[in-house]
Amino acid sequence: MGMDKALGDGFLTTTVDTIVNWGRANALWPMPMGLACCAIEMMAFAGPKYDAARFGSEVMRFSPRQSDVMIVAGWCTYKMSHAIRRVWDQMPDPKWCIAMGACASTGGMHRAYGVVQGVDNFLPVDVYISGCPPRPESLINAMLQIQEKIKTEHTAKLDA
Ligand code: SF4
Repeated sequence: MGMDKALGDGFLTTTVDTIVNWGRANALWPMPMGLACCAIEMMAFAGPKYDAARFGSEVMRFSPRQSDVMIVAGWCTYKMSHAIRRVWDQMPDPKWCIAMGACASTGGMHRAYGVVQGVDNFLPVDVYISGCPPRPESLINAMLQIQEKIKTEHTAKLDA
């Protein structure tokens, strides 16, 4: 196959996509946004028992500049939402977001005027985890879903 035909078929871009996405998917560094009780299960996820290192995600980063997946664990007040959004904006692209638990996903039992009824009101959530609280296995499953999502993304365009 000639190079012209290969480029015409998108051979080069799909190969670059595969390599870059493989790296990104297997080295997701979480930004732990622990807000309430769900954070305890998030901490368990990062411990040795659940071995998040299998997925390249054992390195929790407390600097937004070094993380690419935010895990919002717990219920969120309107006051706190501004700080979280600011941290999110400081994370470099590409980035992903997990709403961990009923409260982060929908407000949960906290039907109160001061509580945001789902963090997707101010963040682009990629994966929602149900449960109160979800088990660490559910968070592992969410990370795997993000990995699958990354594998279908386009990273480069020749005509850009
Ligand atoms: S979902 Fe349950 S465990 Fe998680 S923050 Fe809400 S009340 Fe706490």
